[in-house]
Amino acid sequence: MAAGRTGKYEALLIDLDGTLLDLDIEKFIPAYLEALSKQFIVHLSRDDFIRHLFEATRIMVEDNDPDKKNETIFYKEFCKRIGKNQKQIQPIVDDFYRNVFPSLQCWGKVHPHARAVVEYAREKNLILVLATNPIFPAAAILQRLSWSGFSPDDFDLVTTMENMHFCKPNPSYFTEITRIIKCPPEKCLMAGNDTLEDLSASKAGLDTFLVEDLLLHRTDKEPVSTYRGKLKDLAVLIKSLEPVRRN
Ligand SMILES: [Mg+2]
Repeated sequence: MAAGRTGKYEALLIDLDGTLLDLDIEKFIPAYLEALSKQFIVHLSRDDFIRHLFEATRIMVEDNDPDKKNETIFYKEFCKRIGKNQKQIQPIVDDFYRNVFPSLQCWGKVHPHARAVVEYAREKNLILVLATNPIFPAAAILQRLSWSGFSPDDFDLVTTMENMHFCKPNPSYFTEITRIIKCPPEKCLMAGNDTLEDLSASKAGLDTFLVEDLLLHRTDKEPVSTYRGKLKDLAVLIKSLEPVRRN
């Protein structure tokens, strides 16, 4: 881990999958896709479902319109592709997250050092943001958050497809968070395990901490981050910060 410049942060943004949550992403994603495609099988084949889901997700991730929420972009594209409206598919999606998604918990478990990171951040009076890629609905994110041993009350903001206008790795995603929490980017630290999605925060002026426990190296070049280390090192860094004083 690099030598710390402590005392400068007022907010911690932290990723969920593979960072706070010990998630076996290689097993989780295929299981998730199989289960969700089954839910839609009366309407379209598994392969068509996955193709349309990927395309609609790609369009949502690439969209740069500050006036349209991620949810709006996704459903507009997905519904157009499968010839249904959102009213028709919402009950299918809701049923999936209520009755099927909980069975995927077998791929996620509590990370032994996650609690310390969150508790130290609270102790230091940092604004705490669950900066998980908002390509999923709140129903999916809050369940995964509970698998990691936390509740939404542990955070000042949880980003979801319903409340955000951009996705990682778009730097505008991080800028939008800094506006919502009213904290300048240079006083924010973004911690995550993905060299593409999480380190792009630096393009929005945030410092970054690459969490290496479940590292996802998805860029060609050697990743550049302000700090790197294990989640337990992040806990040590947060513990070393000066507490934030607010009037
Ligand atoms: Mg991650």
